[in-house]
Amino acid sequence: MKTVLITGASGGIGQAAARLFAQNGYQVAAGYCHGADRAQALCAALRKEGFSAEPFYADVSSEVDVREMFRSIAQTFGGVDVLVNNAGIAGQKLFTDITDAEFEQMFAVNVGGVFHCCREAIPYMVRRQCGKIINISSVWGVSGASCEVHYSASKAAVIGLTKALAKELGPSKICVNCVAPGVIDTPMNACFDEQTMHTLTEDTPLMRLGTPEDVAQAIFFLASAAADFITGQVLCTDGGFIV
Ligand code: NAP
Repeated sequence: MKTVLITGASGGIGQAAARLFAQNGYQVAAGYCHGADRAQALCAALRKEGFSAEPFYADVSSEVDVREMFRSIAQTFGGVDVLVNNAGIAGQKLFTDITDAEFEQMFAVNVGGVFHCCREAIPYMVRRQCGKIINISSVWGVSGASCEVHYSASKAAVIGLTKALAKELGPSKICVNCVAPGVIDTPMNACFDEQTMHTLTEDTPLMRLGTPEDVAQAIFFLASAAADFITGQVLCTDGGFIV
């Protein structure tokens, strides 16, 4: 049985991805940071349905936490066959109001987290000469967003990391790709008022917000054998937001 680690499985997209992988026969390591209750409830529900899922704590910005999380997963499930780097934070501010601490935190979680998790996951994948890494970027990492410069920059960094790592790991038959969601209906967007969400919906050619399940399907595709010859790519799940 293959094991998938999904960081941020306590959040909207992570929960949908955890459910989809579980339904397709994976052992699910559900990463969380502050949302222990949500991760535990998700795993309990999946186990009740006969699936294999356990929650694992790590603040992904912490190298020590991530190392310990991988050690615990190895004890419970063995090595990680598919790594989904989904944990992330966002922030809306005028560029000139962003503090050093906010800028550093954005990069520590959104880029540092990917770096730490990839570094722990890769040795097992290289030994087995197979593996899939799917990093969750954002359409803002592709196009840039006003008043989200630090978020956009961190998500653009995830794309650069993905493309470079795909080249480095290609000879080891490990695929590294990005999913770049558009506007998805999750707690991350709870900070926006109704009018802003309406405008974002109208700016989306498919005229609706994305669902966590829309993104989960793209993640699952990239993890599947159907995507074995795809690496270093950015798959936008954005209803046509970026063309
Ligand atoms: P969400 O519901 O807010 O979930 C965010 C997840 O990230 C939570 O599970 C949270 O865990 C985790 N997380 C945050 N900081 C962490 C840390 N330091 N260490 C470990 N985990 C941490 O948001 P979402 O929409 O599902 O977002 C998932 C990913 O999609 C993010 O990378 C986000 O940038 C990206 N994305 C979302 C959208 C969108 O419109 N929603 C669009 C583009 C890209 P805890 O709650 O346990 O702390």
